[in-house]
Amino acid sequence: MIDAIAASGLRGRGGAGFPAGRKWASVRDGSDDPGDRYVVANGAEGEPGTFKDRALIAANPYQVLEGLAIAAETLGAAHAFLAIKASFRRQREVLDRAIAEMRAADLLGVVPITIVEGPDEYLFGEEKALLEVIEGEDPLPRLLPPYIHGLFATRPQVGWSADPGVADAAPEGSNPTLVNNVETFANVAPILDRGPEWYRSLGTVGSPGHVICTVVGDVRRAGVAEVELGRTLAEVVVHIGAGTRPDRALKAVLSGVANPVITAADIDVPVSYEGMAAIGSGLGACGFIVYDDTRDMVAVARGVSRFLFVESCGQCPPCKQGTGEVTELLDELLAGRATDADIELMGARLTTVTDSNRCFLGAQEQRVIGSLLRAFPADFVAHLEGAAPAEPVSIPKLVDILDDGTAIHDERQERKQPDWTYADGA
Ligand code: SF4
Repeated sequence: MIDAIAASGLRGRGGAGFPAGRKWASVRDGSDDPGDRYVVANGAEGEPGTFKDRALIAANPYQVLEGLAIAAETLGAAHAFLAIKASFRRQREVLDRAIAEMRAADLLGVVPITIVEGPDEYLFGEEKALLEVIEGEDPLPRLLPPYIHGLFATRPQVGWSADPGVADAAPEGSNPTLVNNVETFANVAPILDRGPEWYRSLGTVGSPGHVICTVVGDVRRAGVAEVELGRTLAEVVVHIGAGTRPDRALKAVLSGVANPVITAADIDVPVSYEGMAAIGSGLGACGFIVYDDTRDMVAVARGVSRFLFVESCGQCPPCKQGTGEVTELLDELLAGRATDADIELMGARLTTVTDSNRCFLGAQEQRVIGSLLRAFPADFVAHLEGAAPAEPVSIPKLVDILDDGTAIHDERQERKQPDWTYADGA
């Protein structure tokens, strides 16, 4: 099984694009006696501009569960979990129904599968925080990755009795855990059924297969669809979003809030891991937020920075304080009160925001805001020179995409405070 997944070239669909076969092998090979192994399907989707996991689960829960069950049996897991947000009611219903049907047909193997519901916080989707939630804790990323320090591990992560540094092989009591995105698991059964060569015949050499993309923002309709990897981003925006609105030109695209901005000049970039990397960006979870030429990219930067500041958990002070300070400076800039020194200070904070970070959130701030500064200097200079205060831009945290192409945003996000309470007390 692992050889077939590795040969197919399947890469994780959660954002990082790590080769799935290698990840499965690292959990299998943890050590001679690493404790129990676990398998987790990450369906805690929260990346702005992304709705593909919920669309997938609603459309075909069977294929996700089949892949999860195959991974659990292959790795000899003690238990498998599928994590979603408690607010994903429709997905919970279809998963419960599918599990009952598949159990009745004896299609889920012997490893128990449990659905875990978690909070709406962005960090719930971060794999080290996801394990905390499964263990009944808040979504605060732990130190070590799941393949080294897995679910219900008895081995301490820090302190005198912990292993020095990060070991390559998981030591005793570390319970190596496989965490894959739900879309990654959905690819498993077709690969095993039709063979790795079939999968390799789709997509590109570095990015085989197909991928589920979301397109929202300044397009004629929001939508989700599966496309073959390697198609251009321009094609994907037209295919799924029907292109920009009448008389408007595309200005930029954000791939979630994790990767540097893609400008109109790069819109013909192939939607593939290597294609996106070649222009200095990333595929992420293939949630594309389109901005047209009416948009002020300082307002976009402020929206992204505020989202990350609010969602940062605060375990690493440079992340929480850095995202907060950059958000404040962008607010000053939008209000026409910032100076050149403030832009320099913003640059300095973007340099240190990643210091001693446990997870990738600080790096996201650095990558997205830094790229917007570099790609759209005229927008920033205009505010330094007294351009009119711009309308705030809210970052699309999606709760649904309707059949008519309307994207429903989580209105509460704008009222969410950096301590994860809501301004209205809700
Ligand atoms: Fe929390 Fe930020 Fe540290 Fe991640 S990097 S654990 S979000 S404080």
